[in-house]
Amino acid sequence: MMVTAEDFVLKGFDKAGDTNNQLGFNVTQASVMQLPGLNTLGISMVRLDFAAPLGLNPPHTHPRATEILVLIEGTLLVGFITTNNTLISTTLQKGDVFVFPNALVHFQLNIGDVNAVAISALSSQNPGTQQVARTLFGASPPVDPAVLAKAFMIDPKLVQLLQNKFKSSS
Ligand code: MN
Repeated sequence: MMVTAEDFVLKGFDKAGDTNNQLGFNVTQASVMQLPGLNTLGISMVRLDFAAPLGLNPPHTHPRATEILVLIEGTLLVGFITTNNTLISTTLQKGDVFVFPNALVHFQLNIGDVNAVAISALSSQNPGTQQVARTLFGASPPVDPAVLAKAFMIDPKLVQLLQNKFKSSS
């Protein structure tokens, strides 16, 4: 009874996101938080903007979704890594479609000389996103450097350096 057309419409996907940041990248979301009508429907959408050159959607996972992406403008290096650590990667041109299977770590990098724009559909109204680097080095409170030093086979001082970078960039 309370539902209106407003719950099913979201405006502005024609507008580029602000990529003036360290990654040269922006996500505009249409998940259940922005578009309440998606609730229980098992689907959502994002607009991805990549600055030129080398705007990056860094390695991340969607714990609850497969993602299917169409490149609207530009050139992207895309890839995902399987659970047996095989890299599946290719270069996309305008008009190409690529699929990132459920929950696998994946990335997109603008390797062209113009800004790139992609639209993705995700198979959950609330897919969730975990950026790998930020998850490990930007957690709050921080993960004990001894854990990350051993896992990455590096000096704990280097772990603290990375943790400080994520602290100052958030
Ligand atoms: Mn993704």
